[in-house]
Amino acid sequence: MSKTETEQEIIYEGIAASPGIAIAPVHVVARGFSAPEVYEITEDQVPRERERFSHALEITKRQLIELRDRLEELSGDHESEIFEAHVMMLEDSSVLNKVHNAISSRLQNAEFAFYAVMQNFLEAMRRIPDTYLRERTSDISDVAERVLRNFSSEGDTRISAPDDKHILVAYDLTPSDTASMNRRHVLGFATEQGSVNSHTAILARSFGIPAIVGLDGAIIDIMALSPAIIDGYAGKLILHPTKETIEHYRQLSLEKERVKHSLDAMRGAATQTTDGRALTVSANIELVNELALVKRSGAKGIGLYRTEFLLLNGDEIPDEQRQAEAYSRVAREMSPHSVIIRTLDAGGDKLPVEPLTETEPNPFLGWRGIRVSLARPEMFREQIRAILKASAFGKTAVMFPMISGLAEVHESKDMVRRCMDELEKEKIPFDRSLPIGIMIEVPAAAICADILAPEVDFFSIGTNDLIQYTVAVDRVNPHVADLYRPTHPGVIRLIKRTIDAANENGIWTGVCGEMAGDIRLTPLLLGLGVEELSVGPQQVPRVGQAIRSLSYSECAAMAGEAQQARRSQEILDMSMELARKHYPDLLD
Ligand code: PEP
Ligand code: MG
Repeated sequence: MSKTETEQEIIYEGIAASPGIAIAPVHVVARGFSAPEVYEITEDQVPRERERFSHALEITKRQLIELRDRLEELSGDHESEIFEAHVMMLEDSSVLNKVHNAISSRLQNAEFAFYAVMQNFLEAMRRIPDTYLRERTSDISDVAERVLRNFSSEGDTRISAPDDKHILVAYDLTPSDTASMNRRHVLGFATEQGSVNSHTAILARSFGIPAIVGLDGAIIDIMALSPAIIDGYAGKLILHPTKETIEHYRQLSLEKERVKHSLDAMRGAATQTTDGRALTVSANIELVNELALVKRSGAKGIGLYRTEFLLLNGDEIPDEQRQAEAYSRVAREMSPHSVIIRTLDAGGDKLPVEPLTETEPNPFLGWRGIRVSLARPEMFREQIRAILKASAFGKTAVMFPMISGLAEVHESKDMVRRCMDELEKEKIPFDRSLPIGIMIEVPAAAICADILAPEVDFFSIGTNDLIQYTVAVDRVNPHVADLYRPTHPGVIRLIKRTIDAANENGIWTGVCGEMAGDIRLTPLLLGLGVEELSVGPQQVPRVGQAIRSLSYSECAAMAGEAQQARRSQEILDMSMELARKHYPDLLD
């Protein structure tokens, strides 16, 4: 993050995660441990806030000492020393001074000042290469959480979340926070954590909420209710914007609206290139309530229905009947277009399917996607039966995530076959010829695409994960975001290899990762031979118009050259050149 200051306007630069402009006051929510609200105090309240802080520290120390004594009585060993170390943390003068300073100079309430200082401190600790020190972060979190709890034993002076339109600023947001956001009130959001390909960012784009992520360290400075602008195109959060800045953004917003209206006029038009190659532009959805948006977008079907938001958002996984109702509704409403329902992709940065007994050191390489489904056959069976039931109401396909090899494909298909037999016996209607596809998102699957292609009806390339696994760059880690390059020659080769294997086996290949919605890359994907692009509903009109502006033969020639390129930037430049030539107005 960089920060530039004029008289009173402050600009924070992060990573643009979802395009759009929002102008509204900020509301800060602090997440992580205990998530206290932030509110502004007056100068006169400074001594009182300091007193509240000391009081919370005192109570915490007393509790820790009691715990130590109790543990000593019970076990008599060294375990109790841990609490002594915790007490010492509460006496660390550098932390105490920072909190006192934040209270008096930023006029922040004590619990938020403490929270923000501790978040920064923890973040710094997490970056220390020393494993022992890094592991102490959970101890520090524990103590911090205890202190925060001890604030709340007194009268509640916190402000409540505003009902009015606002910009949300948070340390981090989970995908389910984003999914449950009140979209009428939250005009945009900015987080310190996260990256463009996190599910939080993907949801923001689906919902059309302007968003910025990776505003490293900004939250500590931001005061609730300050007027602000989110520039989701450039990744800027502007606090206390001047009149000129506000006017500039109002104009920009109008211009973008104009482009949007002209795209709307083309909605539903065929998406084929100037030389007649047809591509399907379909939409990705996470929630059934996005259907209206999808239909308005002119998408020709759903290329990826991420069912994890239906399955994991409540207290328990919905039963077969409830799942069947949701899937059938999507199939019915999208008819005559087809709907590709992806089976549960739990894990990674999404919620786990059940509480894990221990945290996974590498969740993205862990218990995720099809691995979870195959390990929980009863849950998998219910989902497959529900998908099959939906296939009676409209064109439906099933797709499996995180496939790494043939055995997983065989096991998954066996489940589909068994469920088909069951439904047949039960005389429940379904589509026997329901297409079965797999995500190509693990490099091994792309490399072995020739082995997998004869087994399935289609491939859908999940570039979000394919890039992360190929380049070994965590898709949600802002510290390595620079290395996350969709046009890395390694990635392009894997995409090409996948398409070639599909063509040799007479099946089609789509792309449903975020790369599909990036119109700078449409010439490249088109030229490589992709036949379907499944994108966030907001991107559908733009991607459609990009396709209509391009010539397939020109793109194919460029993609051929791109395969010889040695650097990501070169490949990006080649694709950009055609994008600029054919649709400069569409580019942000
Ligand atoms: C992908 O990995 O590209 C993809 C579409 O799936 P998800 O983002 O849900 O992991
Ligand atoms: Mg994926």
